[in-house]
Amino acid sequence: MLSVRGISKRFGTTMALDDVSLDVADETVAILGPSGCGKSTLLRVIAGLEQPDSGRVLWDDTDITDTPVHLRDFGLMFQTFALFPHRTVGQNVAFGLEMDDVPAPERQRRVREALEWVGMADMADRKIDGLSGGEKQRVALARTLSPRPRLVMLDEPLGSLDRLIRDRLLHEIRQLLHETTTPAIYVTHDHDEARSVAGRIALMRGGRIIQQGTWSELTTDPADEWVERFLGI
Ligand code: ADP
Ligand code: MG
Repeated sequence: MLSVRGISKRFGTTMALDDVSLDVADETVAILGPSGCGKSTLLRVIAGLEQPDSGRVLWDDTDITDTPVHLRDFGLMFQTFALFPHRTVGQNVAFGLEMDDVPAPERQRRVREALEWVGMADMADRKIDGLSGGEKQRVALARTLSPRPRLVMLDEPLGSLDRLIRDRLLHEIRQLLHETTTPAIYVTHDHDEARSVAGRIALMRGGRIIQQGTWSELTTDPADEWVERFLGI
């Protein structure tokens, strides 16, 4: 289980994270908040890509604040996913496994497994160029999942897709996270997305988590007028 304890992070005069604490057990938690509120910075601190000024990151009570990125065993999928355009779908998904020195036969098995998870088992030999936006997003997701990380973090994964594909992928991602039973953090600025993908929502504003709870808890008892407006109630 992930525990984030009192994390603060400043960039110059910007307080990107201000005493943020969050627990994630075997569940999907959404981090919901407007652009610039610190969502990506929080994921980057959890992933180890950014060092906090203060606070700790724990996994099952082990302090991992100073553990290097590649030893955390976390998967992070960015807003803008960087796939290798000239490689095949399968080669892209194999990338993280190669980095981890997973032997070839096991690698092939895991690539197949991850492509099945995202419904692209028959497209392993296709080039990235020529895939649709939704298909690319599925490949990026498979690449994040193939090393079987102990925590999955998705940073606005549907941001660049059009409405119809968003709805379908959102549904699939929710199913997938549920089936793989991997603890997950789903970052979004869209309350509908947060509501459909996650059981629990952590609402962020100005570098702070201002309220946490299920959708019905948040909407029944919003912390203030801003929350009410932001949730569209
Ligand atoms: P979000 O993901 O919620 O849109 P971010 O975490 O990207 O927000 O950014 C939070 C705040 O920190 C913003 O004001 C942003 O401009 C600032 N920020 C983020 N990363 C950096 C950086 N590397 N250098 C300077 N400012 C940054
Ligand atoms: Mg962001």
